[in-house]
Amino acid sequence: MTYLERLHPRQGLRVLVTAGASGIGAAIAAAFLEAGAKVAICDVDEAALDKFRAEHPDVQGVAADVSDPEAVDRLFDVVEHTFGGLDVLVNNAGVSGPTGMIETLSIDEIRRTIEIDLVGQLVVIRRAAKLLKQSNDAAIINISSVAGRFGYAMRSPYSASKWGIVGLTASLAKEMGPEGVRVNAILPGVVRGARMDRVITAKAEASGRTFAEVEEEYVSSISLRRMVEPDDVALTVLFLSSPAGANISGQAIGVCANVEYL
Ligand code: NAD
Repeated sequence: MTYLERLHPRQGLRVLVTAGASGIGAAIAAAFLEAGAKVAICDVDEAALDKFRAEHPDVQGVAADVSDPEAVDRLFDVVEHTFGGLDVLVNNAGVSGPTGMIETLSIDEIRRTIEIDLVGQLVVIRRAAKLLKQSNDAAIINISSVAGRFGYAMRSPYSASKWGIVGLTASLAKEMGPEGVRVNAILPGVVRGARMDRVITAKAEASGRTFAEVEEEYVSSISLRRMVEPDDVALTVLFLSSPAGANISGQAIGVCANVEYL
């Protein structure tokens, strides 16, 4: 294989992307489809699933909440039945969780955030493990966040979950490496898209400023003076799934520049 061929995930790779109907997950799913992979996605938003399916008729789309073990069982029934196995799992599903000082957060909000963002990844990997170990070339890519390395004031349940994902990744890399499964985490910075639009809008409304002013505050706090694009994350996922990523496991890889805002 040439150097450039080794940068490309192999044709026919069987891939599952959680929360693949919109945002970063949709960019990852679209990138794998373009690379010739067989791709399944799950999402809780059925309208978004329908939209993604209409744009990408080759995708296998399943409605499933990653924190619901029974829904995840049904998702894997579809994956096994359709693909006969799995080579790459991208654990992308996550919610921002509540914003506020710890004493103002409800127990339900705290539990729900950790249930989706951290336990959800465990639930999915627990079900995927057998299939991945049967593959000759398997990779798990867990989407964490820069909040999983530096913390994030006013977002402690989110940050704790994302930090937990880094520990989960390191542990599973040790556990599954001898059986041929690479496990890595990606830590995106501030990513352009619907979620950041919601965050910026809320901040603008709370402070009486315009969307553009708050957006500029975020951008100017990043050393490269630009937000991360969903495609930047997707390309790193492709790289980790390709032969070029064959000797990378147990790593927490930032797709970001220095960010001062957290
Ligand atoms: P998003 O808020 O735009 O949501 C993407 C998708 O997740 C939606 O289609 C939604 O329906 C789905 N989803 C939500 N809860 C789900 C669940 N329980 N089960 C299945 N699907 C579910 O998110 P995004 O910005 O695309 O972020 C994707 C991942 O990247 C998340 O884990 C997020 O924490 C992480 N991340 C995002 C940013 C950012 O700036 N956007 C930065 C760092 C990390």
